Amino acid sequence: MLQKEYFKMNDLTLIEAIRALREKKFSSVEITKAYLDRIKKINPKINAYLTVCEDEALKAAERADKLRDLPLLGVPFSMKDIYSTEGIRTTAGSKVLDKYIPPYNATVYQKLIDAGAVLLGKTNCDAWGHGASTENSDFGVVKNPWNLEYVAGGSSGGSAAALASDMTIFEIGEDTGGSIRLPSSFCSTFGLKVTYGRVSRYGAIAYASSLDSMGPMGKSVEDLSLILSVIAGKDERDATSSYNKVPDYAAGLKKSIKNLKIGLPREFYGSGLDGEVKDKIEKAVNVLEGQGAEIVDVSIPSTEYGIATYYIIAPSETSSNLARYDGIRFGNGREVFGDEAKRRIMLGTYALSSGYYDEYYLKAQKVRTLVRKDFEKAFTKCDVILAPVSPTPPFKIGEKINDPLSMYLVDVYTVLVNLAGIPSLALPCGFSKTGLPIGMQIIGPQFSESLILNAGYQYEKATNWRKEKPKL
Ligand code: GLN
Repeated sequence: MLQKEYFKMNDLTLIEAIRALREKKFSSVEITKAYLDRIKKINPKINAYLTVCEDEALKAAERADKLRDLPLLGVPFSMKDIYSTEGIRTTAGSKVLDKYIPPYNATVYQKLIDAGAVLLGKTNCDAWGHGASTENSDFGVVKNPWNLEYVAGGSSGGSAAALASDMTIFEIGEDTGGSIRLPSSFCSTFGLKVTYGRVSRYGAIAYASSLDSMGPMGKSVEDLSLILSVIAGKDERDATSSYNKVPDYAAGLKKSIKNLKIGLPREFYGSGLDGEVKDKIEKAVNVLEGQGAEIVDVSIPSTEYGIATYYIIAPSETSSNLARYDGIRFGNGREVFGDEAKRRIMLGTYALSSGYYDEYYLKAQKVRTLVRKDFEKAFTKCDVILAPVSPTPPFKIGEKINDPLSMYLVDVYTVLVNLAGIPSLALPCGFSKTGLPIGMQIIGPQFSESLILNAGYQYEKATNWRKEKPKL
């Protein structure tokens, strides 16, 4: 195959890949091989993949080439390594599950393979989803494709880095407190944190069950919309999944955003926000205003309590979820837990213990209600909220790893969304002077995925950030 065609296959969006496969420009086996080759070449530099399932992928691609009329037929993709995949190693980024081979499939994975997609492999993440930089992975840090000395974000860092370096077409990440949005922002890719309950959590290795949201990551808003329509919906196996009807998310993208009211929460744009990030978001505001959107000032007064609240609730839930890894059923024993997992088990156990429960856990739950109410109130004044994803552009590998508190503060703008259970779309909005990606998020009320995808799509069409590629 000509070198030129090879590279064309590697930087296709999902929509483009589907079209090309249908037009028989290449077969599923050919495009799958192109991605497997690219992974062999690029992954040693980036460390985005923990497991590449070459044989299974080629078999699935051969099968796809014989089938017809499935929505994602023959398209190669990958998943954060927290989804159970029958017969394929699943580690959650932890040595505790180093050799764990699940006997069943997560619902999200099952839906994607039923739709004809071809799994290339499982991508690196902070162990158990604990982190904002992928430095807590027991299998080594993920390097940012835009500058290998920088982190790719976390915890779904492998997913965003695999997308940014064209080692996959789309990804499924997981967001408990920002893990889809932060890496998307750090790698100049797209990611959607859905409304809690929009996508089944069945078969995903739990971090904090009342916050965990499964969602698509990809190379364009249209791609995310298509994937969401495939993976969303009620699942008998997840009692928290919603009966809410699943619309055709891609159908609503082209609507005008004239008169859309976009709220800027004043607490988000204070002194903690890096100047370059602020500048890029202001420029994005101008673009959106140019498209007829109206900017309104809103307030989320509980912003300052977000980190404290999240870092009580999430460790409490994870201390309970991780209790099952006792070495009896799932491989290695508790001594294999890394430092961050141990820290969170201790924090959570402390917050839940009698005598401290009321003071910490119960109080955090009350503040969580206030956060939800703050957003509800803001959404009486605006349709969507525009916010930074991270207070700074990507940071250097090693810069924060020995200071857990400064690492937790990276999540200041993302955790509120999980506490409120609402959806948020992260998308690229520029680059720093040193060439590092900067992203923003469009937040909406519960089950407003169509609305935020529509706003994001209109912004994406008016800008060209998605076309930029790192030099590798
Ligand atoms: N950085 C946050 C944490 O460490 C979010 C992680 C996530 O969303 N999985 O908890």
